[in-house]
Amino acid sequence: MSESANLLERFRPGRPYIDGQFVDSASGETFESINPANGQPLCEIQACNASDVDRAVTAARGAFNSAWSTMAAADRGRCLLRLADLIESNGKELAHLESLDTGKTMFDSGKIEIPFAASLYRYYGGWADKIVGDTLPTRSGFVYTLKQPLGVVGLITPWNFPFLLVAWKLAPALAAGCSVVLKPAQYSSLTALRLAELCTEAGVPAGVVNVVPGRGSVAGQAMVEHEGIDKIAFTGSTAVGQKLMAAGAKTVKRISLELGGKSPNIIFEDADLKAATRGALSGIFYNKGEVCAAGSRLFVQRGVYDEVVAALADKAGKTTVGDPFDRETRMGPVISKGQMESVLAYIEQGQKEGAKVVAGGKRALEETGGFYVQPTVFRDADNSMTIAREEIFGPVLTCIPFEDEADAIALANDSAYGLAAGVWSRDIGRANRVARALESGTVWINTYNLYDPSAPFGGFKQSGFGRELGYEGIVPYTETKTVWTNLE
Ligand code: NAP
Ligand code: MG
Repeated sequence: MSESANLLERFRPGRPYIDGQFVDSASGETFESINPANGQPLCEIQACNASDVDRAVTAARGAFNSAWSTMAAADRGRCLLRLADLIESNGKELAHLESLDTGKTMFDSGKIEIPFAASLYRYYGGWADKIVGDTLPTRSGFVYTLKQPLGVVGLITPWNFPFLLVAWKLAPALAAGCSVVLKPAQYSSLTALRLAELCTEAGVPAGVVNVVPGRGSVAGQAMVEHEGIDKIAFTGSTAVGQKLMAAGAKTVKRISLELGGKSPNIIFEDADLKAATRGALSGIFYNKGEVCAAGSRLFVQRGVYDEVVAALADKAGKTTVGDPFDRETRMGPVISKGQMESVLAYIEQGQKEGAKVVAGGKRALEETGGFYVQPTVFRDADNSMTIAREEIFGPVLTCIPFEDEADAIALANDSAYGLAAGVWSRDIGRANRVARALESGTVWINTYNLYDPSAPFGGFKQSGFGRELGYEGIVPYTETKTVWTNLE
């Protein structure tokens, strides 16, 4: 049996993980997990509905009260450290599953996504016994604060970095002492289900981590409306984020939202153009452009615009698109047929509005049945075009010229989004001035797409609110309690 078939054996069918074990869903209805590299089904997964969510919440509440929130913080930390080790020792299998399910290259899964996720569980494992309150210099009495775990948290995650974006939420939630109901995206449930088993193996008590695969509008919606869930941590599109805020209002749900982006990457004439070109390419084509922080609007100063765009077009045209399991491949297929069609429709729209395709622009490797799109570069675009306003979430770069520093800042900030940005310049004063002026949760100077467990990440404007990673990433999973004692 092939390695892939072997790994998929445990998902025949994939089932929800509730209270420490795989269980049958209430309805028994299933959905298919598809391999984007050939369009063929990988396996069936049982879909959860409101009654499964309710069962998971009951398990999570029980475990929260009796096991997890009351466990010594240091012991919770040790569970997370063991989980990090287990992720590493099962790294190859997890990477294989992730590449099968999402079409990302084995390099991206095996060398970036899975190890980074492991490092997050380790980082937050270290925080578990360092989440502390304060003693306060009040006028009277003795006053201190406790940072207590929030309770049962619902995690709703997207398909672009399935395993990693679960870790961004699950690791701090567990460190803080919360229990969890997780709904992964339908396109990518496999590694979340495997992770649930690894949590149990790491010593996380039954019921602390529950996974309820299924439709967002059913299982996700049920989570947002459930009175037993104290908070929803969501990563996904701005459109769904808006729905969650409205639906969560009824139960005054705490909500944190990591949403979309249309991130500006700004190249000044005085930049190291070779490095900037490389950064612009990886900024948009890494993970097929399915990156919330993708540098999808490239602003290039007029004097070097032609030179930079020509270099980008040349390199984009030479990018090897193909099978995620082939070592030569630099870019795999996009996640789904629908996503491929949407990306191709944006490319058509860009041309209709007057921008010019100088690389790619078409579907690739159609004979494989996979959802491949050529790395695409547009020139002669302006910031008002659809391809500069809307998140394409695919391998499409829109190159726009600018005149000077003020112009670059104004254009970059003229967007509904504010997730990330890049600035390329050898003038350190200018680079930092621009960084300060950008309406953006992260700014990379002379680099792009760098992340670290300690570095907070999140959005300005319609890219969401709340920060993940770093100590700031723990705070939303706690409640502050102020305790007064009369000393008289
Ligand atoms: P999406 O359509 O918003 O879906 C995200 C998750 O929400 C999925 O699990 C989805 O379930 C679920 N969902 C859908 N409708 C729901 C509802 N009514 N109630 C509750 N849950 C619901 O986003 P996506 O297409 O998966 O991911 C791409 C988007 O995520 C992009 O916009 C990207 O920018 C953003 N993103 C942001 C970040 C960040 O850190 N800011 C990181 C990665 C991605 P289904 O299984 O039914 O789809
Ligand atoms: Mg899939």
